[in-house]
Amino acid sequence: MVGSAITRFAPSPTGPLHLGHAYAALVADARGRMRLRIEDIDRARCKPDWEIAIFDDLRWLGLSWPQPVMRQSERLSFYRQALEKLHILGVIYRCDCSRGDIRAALSAPQEGAALIGPDGPVYPGLCRAKGLQAPDAAIRLDMARAMGLVGPVSFHDSGPDHAGQHCKTAPEMIETIGDIVLARRDLGTAYHLAVVVDDAAQGITEVTRGADLFEATAIHVLLQRLLRLPTPAYHHHRLIRDDQGKRLAKRDDARALAKYRAEGATPQDIRALLGL
Ligand code: GLU
Repeated sequence: MVGSAITRFAPSPTGPLHLGHAYAALVADARGRMRLRIEDIDRARCKPDWEIAIFDDLRWLGLSWPQPVMRQSERLSFYRQALEKLHILGVIYRCDCSRGDIRAALSAPQEGAALIGPDGPVYPGLCRAKGLQAPDAAIRLDMARAMGLVGPVSFHDSGPDHAGQHCKTAPEMIETIGDIVLARRDLGTAYHLAVVVDDAAQGITEVTRGADLFEATAIHVLLQRLLRLPTPAYHHHRLIRDDQGKRLAKRDDARALAKYRAEGATPQDIRALLGL
């Protein structure tokens, strides 16, 4: 049903859009009616100027989207409500560990090699049973309890690298992902929670995004199940890489769309460069 889905492009305004972003936006547009969402919860890294530049680049590419644009910085109350629901379910807890505390626990001889999940080393559970109340501490998901409530999580992907149905069991989620952070102490939320709440609020039926986020998808489906939100279809697209095969990052200004524009490229040139 290509074209009839509701898709989204969800950039963070932390730098110029580059070819990788253009590809993500063009895929979202080609596969459905694209919604735009500005992922600006990290106020220290996001700048309004970058947001304006994003709109300008996307319009130049020939894309359009309904107004008003969703901005995560304006939605903290919705993330709080979601955390409240998870609290009632008994699947979150406060954690005041520093990165150093976690590193030290993981390097203890009995721990063995730390597994690296989508958010870094799997949390060793230091605060899980402490019952901390500190309102300024981070909030983590108790993965074992959460999976105990919903059972295995599954989703469908139609992207080139991961096409098919995917399912993760409780032991896999506990071992390879663990107790991820749902609210950073400084932000009141974190990517995984915000993305789930907002995809539902925007009525997204197909999430199109880069294959680098494939491993995070099981977390999102779990949160959807806990919060009783629908699970969309997923399409993880290929990543655009530089000549050395490295994924493009915001700092790769050489690949910024603005630079191609300044050099006289047309939107058709960009599509051709991306193989579209
Ligand atoms: N905000 C993320 C980024 O800039 C995208 C997250 C998503 O598509 O789920 O890469």
